[in-house]
Amino acid sequence: MVDLAVIYSELFRKHEMDRAHPESPDRVDFIMQGIKELQNELKEQIIIHQAETIDEEDILAVHVPDLLTTIQAISEAGGGMITVDTTLNEHTFNLAKLAAGATKQAAKLVAENQAKRSFAVVRPPGHHAESNSAGGFCFFNNIAIAAEWLINSMDYNKVLIIDIDLHFGNGTSHIFYYRKDILYVSIHAHPMYSYPGSGYPTEVGIVDGLGYNINIPLLPGTQSLDWLYALQFASRIVNQYQPEFILVSAGFDALEGDPVGIFNLKANAFFGAGYLLNELAKDHCDGRICCTLEGGYKKDQLKEVSKKFIKGLLGYKPAIIDKLNDYDVTDYTKSIIKQVKNAHKGYWEF
Ligand SMILES: [Zn+2]
Repeated sequence: MVDLAVIYSELFRKHEMDRAHPESPDRVDFIMQGIKELQNELKEQIIIHQAETIDEEDILAVHVPDLLTTIQAISEAGGGMITVDTTLNEHTFNLAKLAAGATKQAAKLVAENQAKRSFAVVRPPGHHAESNSAGGFCFFNNIAIAAEWLINSMDYNKVLIIDIDLHFGNGTSHIFYYRKDILYVSIHAHPMYSYPGSGYPTEVGIVDGLGYNINIPLLPGTQSLDWLYALQFASRIVNQYQPEFILVSAGFDALEGDPVGIFNLKANAFFGAGYLLNELAKDHCDGRICCTLEGGYKKDQLKEVSKKFIKGLLGYKPAIIDKLNDYDVTDYTKSIIKQVKNAHKGYWEF
């Protein structure tokens, strides 16, 4: 079994919104450069697979048919705008399907024990796509499609989605808001200060999904150890849920200086996050973990930050983890954790 399967296609470069848009084609180049360097630097086996597209039926398990036909029609007409910040060109429909396919493929390789862990290096990203609408640079919700496929086709009953992108994954949260077979946990910039304007701790889920939507919004300027502290806190809930499979919305836009970000994380924070997520997977689901790329726009550091994240994911332990034990977290983060506990006290033990 390979240590890490990476799913990628050069075709992902063909989707472009406009020349100045931060979600630019070369983002995936930087990440793939980093992965190729890791193939030489580390002893672990890292295999790169060609991305395969997906059946529309798998997309329709998550999205309404109207969204698919609208995206197809705009793209086949040569492109155009679907929301103010999100536009298509003639390749977008096929590449949005390819991104969903690559994420499903990444999950499948792990579910079928061909890879210990996987990473789909895709664009367009997915976590802002709602069941009936595109937006926030996203068209189809790649991770939601993979999660639904795991539940329907691999008979898992408890899948965890952890979203570490700077932004709240409103699409993913809402698609599974009424369900307990998928636990959604997100650490993101506070909705008062950042897109998409939702993701408060009190959004806990409805009906069967009550308690299965965990939002941890942090303030602008949040630093590495506070962010990792929030992730460590979230693992207390994950330990009670005991997931059978972990999916990660891996966005790197919480990095300091990201052009659309407002956090001040250093690259080592992502090393720490990769490590903590891999530990969770080892503790609960024989190491089964699959990541898909979401945001991350600071091009001169994308290679470095993704390399660090993947090293952590492969089990390398960064020094920042030891600092967490006696770290004195900021008052704001303390108060947010308290709000999360209050919102969820009927559902989880703290
Ligand atoms: Zn983002």
